Amino acid sequence: MVSRVIPVDTFDLVIFGGTGDLAHRKILPGLYRRFVAGQMPEDARIIGAARSDLDDEQYRTDVRAALMEFVDRRLHSEEHFAAFLSRLHYVAIDARGDHGWKSLHELMRDGVVRAFYFSVAPALFGDLAERLHRHEIADEASRIVVEKPFGRDLASARALNATLAQHFDETQIYRIDHYLGKETVQNLMAVRFGNVLFEPLWNSQYVEHIQITVAETVGVAGRGSYYDKSGAMRDMVQNHLMQLLCLIAMEPPSRFDPDAVRDEKLKVIRALEPVDPADIVRGQYRRQGDIAAYTDDVEDLDSRTESFIAMKLHVSNWRWAGTPFYIRTGKRLRARQSEIAVVFKDAPHSIFGASAGRHRNILTIRLQPNEGMTLGVTIKEPGPGGMRLIDVPLDMTFADALGPDNDEVPEAYERLIMDVVRGNQTLFMRGDEVEAAWAWTDPIIEGWQSRDDRPLSYEPCTSGPEESAMLLHRENRRWREIRE
Ligand code: NAD
Repeated sequence: MVSRVIPVDTFDLVIFGGTGDLAHRKILPGLYRRFVAGQMPEDARIIGAARSDLDDEQYRTDVRAALMEFVDRRLHSEEHFAAFLSRLHYVAIDARGDHGWKSLHELMRDGVVRAFYFSVAPALFGDLAERLHRHEIADEASRIVVEKPFGRDLASARALNATLAQHFDETQIYRIDHYLGKETVQNLMAVRFGNVLFEPLWNSQYVEHIQITVAETVGVAGRGSYYDKSGAMRDMVQNHLMQLLCLIAMEPPSRFDPDAVRDEKLKVIRALEPVDPADIVRGQYRRQGDIAAYTDDVEDLDSRTESFIAMKLHVSNWRWAGTPFYIRTGKRLRARQSEIAVVFKDAPHSIFGASAGRHRNILTIRLQPNEGMTLGVTIKEPGPGGMRLIDVPLDMTFADALGPDNDEVPEAYERLIMDVVRGNQTLFMRGDEVEAAWAWTDPIIEGWQSRDDRPLSYEPCTSGPEESAMLLHRENRRWREIRE
């Protein structure tokens, strides 16, 4: 299957923090892949802007090394590398001072899309926005892209929104949540709103419960000082899991346009009920053999930060009254596995009798590994011997459906960056969404602090604390397995 690649308008993309980890691992490899796919216009340019004192050639050498390391080997080509790197420029800049801003101003071209990626610490976002404005580098058509974390509570998110709003209109601000750039996540909307099959069943009358799991095998070593101030709730739930929940739970928007979609997501966040502490399980991985404990990976030996969280949530509206949403995410778990499972109710009456057993349709949406969807359907076991029922998966693994050339499917970052150039904000979080998510998160975290809540310890390479399983067992439900 050959995907259609529609070139975008030509652009000058400035990456503040262009020498940093995120630029090396995700942004620049993503842009290279779009270049190889033929989506980048001939004269599009990428301008790295960071603290290091480099010239264009040195920056190209730096980026070349990153491409060698982080781009799939099948896409390595001296010809492509040379052509891509020739579009790169570099400006040494100080976000907090005056150095470099005049050079950047002189480098920018008129008549092309101007986009500015803030791939730096959030503390610098305000400085960058102010200087882009003061040095007349950004105009009313320019776009800025901001990375997570977007605040650490409602107050800081509001302050950040207010700072950016001094210099940029909401239509110019692209708050990135790379989960929204994943192919499967967008497919979730296509499946829900492009088919007549699912939407009539997508409510509490037919959906028994929903599970969202984002499991990681890595610990926090290397980024312990950041993570320990954040924890799973701030680092994963407030943004990524919340966005997934919104796409599952939202009402059909009237159009697939940025504000129609984001209005519906916002309504979901506002409909989230406060969570009963008995419906939350927090965990922290302990030492096991050679595997360090969470507290070995951070400075605070007595840290109360959670590296795992499981919760039962309710969306209080007509569609979802009575259908719980179970979400969980954690580090050092058994496998790297992200999926959403929509578990439908039993058929109202079994004509096959008790011996046929219990069969439920489950729609599983896999974000990783092997992005795709599976719908479990119940059929008759083939062959003689009466009416025995079995569940078989209707499987749509994208890699199989798209054939061996599915390199053409863009990864999350590259798709989102191209959306910035196109001026499409549908897959970016709006300021009010982020604030609503913090408004729901804050009281939960404050509750832990006021009760001096300690996370439960769990063994690495498991599914988290036993109590997480109990959260479902007590209601005759069970988590889907986290499998290696
Ligand atoms: P990093 O520390 O590797 O890089 C920081 C970059 O900022 C460098 O290029 C540095 O030169 C530049 N910089 C620092 N101070 C500056 C100043 N005063 N003026 C100009 N440039 C300055 O950081 P990173 O890991 O690339 O993260 C960048 C942002 O992306 C952060 O907000 C981070 O939270 C976010 N983020 C990172 C990841 C990741 O995987 N690395 C994932 C999600 C979000």
